[in-house]
Amino acid sequence: MFLQRSAVAVARRAAFSPLLRRSLATTAVMRRDAVPDSTTPNTKIKTLSEIKSLDDLVGPGAAPGTVPTDLEQATGLERLEILGKMESVDIFDMRPLDASRLGTMENPVLVRSAGDEQYAGCTGVPADSHTVIWLAMTRERPIERCPECGSVYKMEYVGPADDGHGHDHHGYEEPKTFANFVKPEYW
Ligand SMILES: [Zn+2]
Repeated sequence: MFLQRSAVAVARRAAFSPLLRRSLATTAVMRRDAVPDSTTPNTKIKTLSEIKSLDDLVGPGAAPGTVPTDLEQATGLERLEILGKMESVDIFDMRPLDASRLGTMENPVLVRSAGDEQYAGCTGVPADSHTVIWLAMTRERPIERCPECGSVYKMEYVGPADDGHGHDHHGYEEPKTFANFVKPEYW
């Protein structure tokens, strides 16, 4: 926005000053000459197998004067996902959940998660039987039941093992729900 406004201001000034207009034109020619003809980035793009640490997840960037593609400029997890897709590896396991059966307490539908909590959208059995209902599961409370169709989901933690920084000693306590007040004999 600022750039746009200052460009307008320069253009206005140029209308009153032929000298300035000429210098702007000269600048434009010089800039065009300065852009290199080569459009290939000078750094090699690493493949998925070459990614060893976070530092490898940085793209080479675009050649000067060109608009970068996602492959050239994406970093971090987005870059890992793109590199995976190029080799048909589904990094984040984006397959839909099993909707061929209703999850039960004995045999819940498993939801893999690499984080402390995970949201899953239920649409019933078969899929799209009801509108999406989002269920939140955590490591402390991994089981959730869809209030519409009754399907039971269970979060399966697949993230890194505990690093000794659990939540217990921070004194965090999950908010109470109605489930906390159900008499034990009703379970
Ligand atoms: Zn449901």
